[in-house]
Amino acid sequence: MPVERTEKRTEPRGAEELHKCYQVYDTIGSGGFAKVKLGRHIPTGEKVAIKIMNKKDLGDDLPRVKVEMEAMKNLSHQHICRLYQVIESSTQIFMILEYCPGGELFDYIIAKDRLSEEETRVFFRQIMSAMAYVHSQGYAHRDLKPENLLIDGDHNLKLIDFGLCAKPKGGLGYELMTCCGSPAYAAPELIQGKAYIGSEADVWSMGVLLFALLCGYLPFDDDNCVVLYRKITRGKYDNPPWLSPGSILLLNQMMQVDPKLRPAVQQLLEHPWVIQDYNSPVEWHSRQPLGHIDEDCITEMAVNMKRSRESTTALVNEWRYDHVTATYLLLLSKKQRGKPVRLHTEPNAIDAAFSPLHGRMQTTEDLHFTADDDAVILDSLDLCSDYIDDCPWVSVERHTPQAVHQKMERITDDKRPATPLEKRCVRSPPPERAQVTARHRQERRHKERQTARDNKENVGQQEKDVEIFALPPPRTPPSSKNNTRHKNVLTTPNQNVANGTRGTPKEGSGAKDPIKRRAAETKEPTNIEILAFSPERRSRSLDMAGSGDSGKKRRAGRVFGSLERGLDKVITMLTPGKRRAPRDGPRKIKTQYNVTLTGQTNPDQVLNQILSVLPEKNVEFSQKGYTVKCKTWDDFGKVTMAFELEVCLLHRPEVVGVRRQRLKGDAWVYKHLVEDILSSSSI
Ligand code: ADP
Repeated sequence: MPVERTEKRTEPRGAEELHKCYQVYDTIGSGGFAKVKLGRHIPTGEKVAIKIMNKKDLGDDLPRVKVEMEAMKNLSHQHICRLYQVIESSTQIFMILEYCPGGELFDYIIAKDRLSEEETRVFFRQIMSAMAYVHSQGYAHRDLKPENLLIDGDHNLKLIDFGLCAKPKGGLGYELMTCCGSPAYAAPELIQGKAYIGSEADVWSMGVLLFALLCGYLPFDDDNCVVLYRKITRGKYDNPPWLSPGSILLLNQMMQVDPKLRPAVQQLLEHPWVIQDYNSPVEWHSRQPLGHIDEDCITEMAVNMKRSRESTTALVNEWRYDHVTATYLLLLSKKQRGKPVRLHTEPNAIDAAFSPLHGRMQTTEDLHFTADDDAVILDSLDLCSDYIDDCPWVSVERHTPQAVHQKMERITDDKRPATPLEKRCVRSPPPERAQVTARHRQERRHKERQTARDNKENVGQQEKDVEIFALPPPRTPPSSKNNTRHKNVLTTPNQNVANGTRGTPKEGSGAKDPIKRRAAETKEPTNIEILAFSPERRSRSLDMAGSGDSGKKRRAGRVFGSLERGLDKVITMLTPGKRRAPRDGPRKIKTQYNVTLTGQTNPDQVLNQILSVLPEKNVEFSQKGYTVKCKTWDDFGKVTMAFELEVCLLHRPEVVGVRRQRLKGDAWVYKHLVEDILSSSSI
């Protein structure tokens, strides 16, 4: 019997364990590997991002995920997205991460066309702080780009995506050979297949990133990858007229073709451009060092777990990245934000959340799960979510009891027996499903954890021999170097961003400039041919030996003003299956910076215009009400891009708007494609 219990505890159902501790809401992003959902940690009430990966889909990329998890466990810094917990089953991996509601830096840049030098400096100091720390810990990131920097609730940057990072065994000075990262950001020595030093390659990417922040486009770009690679190898790019001499100098230093001539990040920390207006070097040390244990958090956990402070400290110190780690780190995060260090007083919720630690974990067998039930459970519990209330920026249809019943009816229609969790959803809202019996509590009190943390050092990705790569297809749209941007869109301030902390520049103090409302510029009919799509995001970042060029040329005459997903990408939190459809009319929403104003008043006309253009652009779509889900594919049948366009009504001004949301695919290609669709739709 005890043997059986141990076995069950080492291989728990991922989704089952997930739902004991977290409310799961809807998808907020997706990448090459993962779907990312918004969640809430029940005991602390804190929002989290849940990165969900299916092991079968990961295939050969599973090691990359392991590398990412190991790196994130070892890195704790104010500008690196924090990993709280890892839940792994035989089929799935869930990474519970710090939630960054501000979206990707990429979206922020393009919403503003480009950033001022002052705002760039605020962000760039944060990037340098993160990178100096990463390098000090012996890691090279190797995939630095604005898509991998997220904006948190205080408008501070958090670095993500450590799947390509390397931690050479002999230290960062050891040469690496694996060619990886995104071509447009890759250093010359890397794309030439030479041995390279990871930190030096990162400095090059930081230079490209700095250029993108200051200019709104890439320094090296071309449809033809041979030409792109030649440009990178030569290291020649044009400086637009708005760049200050100081910016030009810094960019030039970072994008030196000879890696030995590039400054190290440590040197950059006190570069004159970097300290301008601050008069102090960048503070790069972690404000959250890994070994430190906070007494207030321990006390709160000890009280709730009915343990001694000593044993609670010992438990936390194991750093297992299980529910104990998550609870501790989320309490700490609350404390750091000036919130009370309190766990949820709902006893059932706490008990349920802690139960896996104490042997109370309900087994797979108890719940009669089938192998593929994880996804169903996720879905069914989404329906039970009632924690959405305090997301002020989310306008959602509530999961009413009726909705739950409708879902159950659908399930019945499916002729598929409802899972126990689905049944529980109908019977009771989430906190109640976490009932713990007296027996369980008693058991829990007497259980101690058995296994010690496998404290293996993350030695980074195995460096292989040189990978000879075929030239990949173009991954980025042409840059618009002359900055002649013809916008046919109106962008509006995003309240979330505008609320960011301002004041004297300081690390972590947020950007200074509010996003300004942009005036619509003259519409100019474009004559853009069908876009050639890059492979999906993962391929873009990882697979420099990509498939052949589709050969289709694309011309992008404009950089769009505000075609991005932005901060409110979760504004519609429901997946199509959960929407009330068909709608009587379009949704009425507030203007957001990922909404294009059309100047038209007839939503049906706008919808039809969009629908008529999509086939021309080789975009496959499905329509539900006023929402159009779009996909593009590569020649090998892989989805390269997924995004939504939703026709909606705006209050002020009272016009029809098109809300855009990128779900998957390369950010720069998406930007140009949606720009193309909307301008071709004449809206
Ligand atoms: P992949 O490893 O599959 O490329 P990512 O980690 O890049 O996936 O995540 C995909 C997308 O999900 C990101 O581009 C971002 O928009 C969103 N996302 C990821 N992590 C978070 C987070 N911590 N908070 C908010 N959104 C996130």
